[in-house]
Amino acid sequence: MIKLPKVINVMGIPYRVILKTEPWGGEKHFSKTGKMLVGDIGFIEKDICVCTKGPIEAHWATLFHEIIHAITSELRMKMSEDDTNRFAAILLDTIVRNKIIKEK
Ligand SMILES: [Zn+2]
Repeated sequence: MIKLPKVINVMGIPYRVILKTEPWGGEKHFSKTGKMLVGDIGFIEKDICVCTKGPIEAHWATLFHEIIHAITSELRMKMSEDDTNRFAAILLDTIVRNKIIKEK
């Protein structure tokens, strides 16, 4: 798959895509489950962080997950993490199957 873009425009809002080499935790961004994060979105900062450890497919899955958060936030919709994961995975799968994002 192609590399992640440096900026992703969601509903007219450009989000800077920041790549991190390792998962992260820390007080501010620690998830409720206590897991280390591989993706995060700053709704005020307008940035999306993606961990680049693991295969590129995982980076895209994380980016799509955060895009769904951006959309649901803008639309003031509530969507659980599980639903966000499912929605993002199916959307990405649809895009890949239809060769909108080409696999190598
Ligand atoms: Zn999430």
